[in-house]
Amino acid sequence: METSADSDRDNRHPELWDEPDHIRKELARTMDHIYSHGMTTTSGGNMSVIDSLGNIWITPSGTDKGSMKPDEVVCVAPEGTFSGSLRPSMEYPIHRAVYDTRPDIRALIHAHPPVLTSFSIVHRIPDSSVLMAWHEVCGAAGYAVYAIPGSDTMGETVAAEFRKGHDSVIMENHAVVVSGRDLAEAQARLETLEYCSRALHAAGFLGDTVKPGDVTGDNNEFMSGTPTQYAGRGFQSTGIEGVMSPGEELVAEEICRMTVRACGRGLMYGFCGTISARNTGNSYLLTRKKVLRCKINKADIIAGRTGEKGSSQEEWLHSEIYNRFPAVNAVITARPPHLMAYAVTGKDINVRTIPESWILLQQMPLVPLGAISPGREEIFEKLSSGIPAVLIANDSVLVTGNSLLQAFDRLEVAEMTAMSLILGRSLGKVNPISDNDVADLKRVFSGK
Ligand SMILES: [Zn+2]
Repeated sequence: METSADSDRDNRHPELWDEPDHIRKELARTMDHIYSHGMTTTSGGNMSVIDSLGNIWITPSGTDKGSMKPDEVVCVAPEGTFSGSLRPSMEYPIHRAVYDTRPDIRALIHAHPPVLTSFSIVHRIPDSSVLMAWHEVCGAAGYAVYAIPGSDTMGETVAAEFRKGHDSVIMENHAVVVSGRDLAEAQARLETLEYCSRALHAAGFLGDTVKPGDVTGDNNEFMSGTPTQYAGRGFQSTGIEGVMSPGEELVAEEICRMTVRACGRGLMYGFCGTISARNTGNSYLLTRKKVLRCKINKADIIAGRTGEKGSSQEEWLHSEIYNRFPAVNAVITARPPHLMAYAVTGKDINVRTIPESWILLQQMPLVPLGAISPGREEIFEKLSSGIPAVLIANDSVLVTGNSLLQAFDRLEVAEMTAMSLILGRSLGKVNPISDNDVADLKRVFSGK
């Protein structure tokens, strides 16, 4: 079935994946990204891309993954030969075996992100189906039983799971291998699975049962949507509507800057998270779907008109908020791990932890997943009552602001608040600010 995700991916210039310089640079960039985000160690982790001639471009063995250069990438010819002083990664047998068994896979990453690895050592698979956005990227992960690292048996065991159709495989007492139709998709899977693991881990501290998500699509009329329903117009990248105006350029640059910043703060990752900002009264700009958030640029920003349907629930919700709330100039949808621990357990979050949390958020109600469907009013009713952020069960956190910086600040405070509440539980009883303290805060900060 052709999905909107497939057509999005057509924008990725697959021909570039036969360009040696592009492959080398992207492997170095991706390794640098996963190292600097704590998802692999100096000596651990490896990744590869296969080109249309069957050459496997793979990271080298025994070098510093924290400072890998493009020219360190080793090219292994289809017959297994390579040149140069560096050897291919010791896990080359995994890469070879998976490419042999799944011709649709063009990129692989093996790494040891710590929380995902904790699942591997308790012999569990993180269940990404608790959130549709995670499940769309990760699908159901496979599980490969333990084998000696670097062995042909390890390669065969992992490849057998990919042969079943899985796109990511948990390696027992080891870590994970993820695949992609390009390196960006593999990176998105790795990050999403690690952040899903972090959220499930944090949910364990809340002592509540994780509630199943809805990945059937029943809850999402946009899943079967066709591109004609799409209200947004593209800019240079799609050629639909010419170039951006100088004003639009400024808004787009700010959206890109804040999206990349959100990745640095652990608030966004992979393809996950949407930032939009009002442009003029009835138009807004937002981040395109299925683009790595950490390297988003102006070509990945699209435009929409307020009150139009959009191609996804997220886009519809942003559009409708601009339509109904003239004072809102920025909307963010995100899935940071500690807030998602509350979203997947359905547990209320009490933001009366420190004055800053209360001042910025006042309260953050939890609405059911169905509330993001057209025709439902819960979210708009909350926003009408002056609440700037809501948690959507088994989906996301939605944050609004009169500026992008204000919305971003609220998102950051909301996630930090959730983190403090969860971490506090292992130290002692969590004590919220009293009603009297809140009354004082209202008097001083709200003029009420
Ligand atoms: Zn390993």
